[in-house]
Amino acid sequence: MPEEPDGNVWGAHDADVTRRLAASFRGELLTPGDRGYGRTRRVFNGMIDRRPSVILRCSGVADVMQGVRVAREQEWPVSIRGGGHGVAGNAVCDGGLMLDLSGMKGMHVDPVRRMAQGQTGLLLGEFDHETQAFGLATTLGVVSLTGIAGLTLGGGLGWLNGKYGLACDNVLAADVVTADGEFLTADASENEDLYWALRGGGGNFGVVTALTYQLHPVTTVLAGGLTFPAEQAHDALRFYHQFASGAPDELSMGGSVSRDPEGHVTVSITACYCGPLDEGERVLSPLRGFGRPLGGEIVPLPYEALQCGADVSFPRGRQHYWKSSYLRDLTDEAIDVLLDFAATIPSPFTGIGLQQMTGVASRVDPRATAFAHRDRQYDFLILSQWEDPVDSDRNIEWTRRFFEAMSPHLKEAVYVNNLGDQEHDRVRAAYGVNYDQLAAVKARYDPENIFRLNHNIAPAVR
Ligand SMILES: Cc1cc2nc3c(=O)[nH]c(=O)nc-3n(C[C@H](O)[C@H](O)[C@H](O)COP(=O)(O)OP(=O)(O)OC[C@H]3O[C@@H](n4cnc5c(N)ncnc54)[C@H](O)[C@@H]3O)c2cc1C
Repeated sequence: MPEEPDGNVWGAHDADVTRRLAASFRGELLTPGDRGYGRTRRVFNGMIDRRPSVILRCSGVADVMQGVRVAREQEWPVSIRGGGHGVAGNAVCDGGLMLDLSGMKGMHVDPVRRMAQGQTGLLLGEFDHETQAFGLATTLGVVSLTGIAGLTLGGGLGWLNGKYGLACDNVLAADVVTADGEFLTADASENEDLYWALRGGGGNFGVVTALTYQLHPVTTVLAGGLTFPAEQAHDALRFYHQFASGAPDELSMGGSVSRDPEGHVTVSITACYCGPLDEGERVLSPLRGFGRPLGGEIVPLPYEALQCGADVSFPRGRQHYWKSSYLRDLTDEAIDVLLDFAATIPSPFTGIGLQQMTGVASRVDPRATAFAHRDRQYDFLILSQWEDPVDSDRNIEWTRRFFEAMSPHLKEAVYVNNLGDQEHDRVRAAYGVNYDQLAAVKARYDPENIFRLNHNIAPAVR
């Protein structure tokens, strides 16, 4: 009999409820021992090893409503899985019920109104594939295997953020199954408080079954990256900061630091220009002319190809431990600390990311959506990944020491989608000035905190 974390034994009553649920459920219901259970409980981060008592592989909204109602009645903990890429692993619970939406991949593109509605089991690449057929796209993330749901509900920083804002800024409506198992739609004219909270407040307010996005004309972009050797690392990062700081909205950039297979530090500067190509050639010429890169190129690329370009560096199942905060100024002192630690990166798969938030994404009023951290800045991320769990202590310890040394240069604010499962003390900083308003919305839609397996906002006391 599986045990819940609070010690409740999954008893005969729960087994009976599960049997009845299975009889009326359209999707697949899995319990420990069932074929597919082991595979389904696994998420992107190989460190996460949790065993739900029941997994509901939902086939549609009706399944989700049923799952939420039963979990609520039985007081089972409930987790929500979209694409399963959340590094904290909140998509899967120990004991209780896991609502797995990954099979819900319906999508409709309206090319005339430039809108798309997608179910929340879609991955970014699947979404892009459908919209690109019409020469359209919206901001998502930069790895195509990530889920649209978790990414968008937390914010969604990607290659189009400078021109079109974050993923959440492009959400026009959301279909939601609330804590009482009811279905509603949230948009600018209906349930406006929920619509506001879903755009940055994470999975706190209900199970989102579909998202409707604003799309934009995007086909070929001028994109790619250049990689610089250790002796140019400092100058390359300084150049990146200066160049990125003056970039037009059409240009969104990223910087990253890693070690090559021989152990040498390298710096990569990546870019995506989503405006007219001839203007992009002009804008990007200083980057192309900078230093003596080891390799790489910036060329016209189909947007969909750009979106898949980084996938190979992030296979499922590796051990992941991340530390992150926003960084406003990439000063010489910050670069020195960064490069000192880069020289001792313990795993060849680890990278340090400086993904740029810029343009439209940076200018939205911090209170206009739940996503509070509007500034021209970098999402600074120490993305530690390694293969063998034996190496965990060494990698985690290095990541923590590095983050501590960088802290004087970092903001307190952090991107909610980068938080690990131990970082409860940073949840307020993740929601920033909007925390209290989010707590009020939480009190209205989920007063009993049914949806608490996330970077949790406690319902305001009324
Ligand atoms: C390799 C990699 C690359 C990434 N790149 C980017 C990037 O470029 N830009 C960026 O902004 N972020 C990026 N991220 C972070 C990403 O935004 C988060 O990992 C996000 O949580 C992934 O969403 P998911 O649906 O795949 O994850 P899941 O683990 O399935 O979900 C994460 C959480 O979101 C909530 N949730 C998920 N689905 C629903 C739903 N239907 N209803 C309600 N709540 C839900 C739940 O609380 C869940 O625990 C990246 C992550 C990885 C691992």
